[in-house]
Amino acid sequence: MNRHVKALLSGAVALAAAAGTALAAYPERPITMIVPFAAGGPTDTIARIVGEHMSKTLGQTVVIENVTGAGGTTGITRGAQAAPDGYTIMMGHMGTHGASPALYPNLKYDPTKDFTPIGLAAGTPIIIVTRKDFPAKDLKEFIAKMKAEGPKLNEGNAGVGSVSHTTCTLLTSQLGIKTARVTYKGTGPMINDLVGGQVDFGCDQIVSVAQQIKAGTIKALAIATPERSPALPDLPTTKEAGMPEYEVSAWNAVFGPKGLPADIAGKLNDALVKALDDEHTRKRILDLGGTIADKPGRSPAALQKLVESEVARWNPVLKGIAAQAVNPAGATSGATPPPAAAPAPAPAPAQK
Ligand code: ASP
Repeated sequence: MNRHVKALLSGAVALAAAAGTALAAYPERPITMIVPFAAGGPTDTIARIVGEHMSKTLGQTVVIENVTGAGGTTGITRGAQAAPDGYTIMMGHMGTHGASPALYPNLKYDPTKDFTPIGLAAGTPIIIVTRKDFPAKDLKEFIAKMKAEGPKLNEGNAGVGSVSHTTCTLLTSQLGIKTARVTYKGTGPMINDLVGGQVDFGCDQIVSVAQQIKAGTIKALAIATPERSPALPDLPTTKEAGMPEYEVSAWNAVFGPKGLPADIAGKLNDALVKALDDEHTRKRILDLGGTIADKPGRSPAALQKLVESEVARWNPVLKGIAAQAVNPAGATSGATPPPAAAPAPAPAPAQK
């Protein structure tokens, strides 16, 4: 072995040893959790709640970075392209990791292949909400108003492929109408405008609307789950309120970029699982109407399965809706397109 090769080999051994130490010591500095929507919305809220407890377990701060745009796909693209060293992770959801592939032909990531799944953070039922003075006292009156005036009504959402956009797309397609769509960087600012009366309605994840509904600053018409939520026991389900075909639910989950070393991914999953076992953290999520998966449902393998099933369930639904020729004038043409079938229900995280 010549001198040159020997030097190279000892360099490689030193590098490997350093890498081993780095893994053993992980994390040695703060971890960035990318939230692909604005502050104050459900993704941000869930990230801050679980991130706070994960910081305690990991011994390093989990710093939330809001990277918004393109229905959440801008932040998730950034996260997918980050170094797989455990210092950049992200909070995705049913939109970024389920609906988006059907809506963005040039999406720069594949939700089923380009991530290291860490675990499911919360299940989030969908609620149809309006400004508090919207002239409809229940879902039936709302539907009548939508059919009569859809294109004039302002629907707030968090951008193409977001949960609010996807679930309101399903709603309006089932009603055979179009609305005036107003895009926000997340449903935090959207709900602020709903409180202010600048938009008429939206479809959002329960965790960002439960408190406003209780405070009476916005109006809720129905929850799109088979059962009522313990957080809002007076709110009827869509089935009870007269639109049984509209059943849809979402979720938020933690991902790392593809190729995260197994021990780092394991530490992150362990911190997430501990957060979801912590009484205070659980209470904060449950009080907002979120649901918490049982232990097997929090595993990386369960999340990978969920992502694969979500991409498979939303793809035909969204492509089918896009293919429908919906007359923007809606009811005025008299031609109502066939209603979109609701996607098969997502595996609901058990509340344990
Ligand atoms: N709920 C949002 C959505 O519609 C995003 C957010 O978390 O702000 O996808």
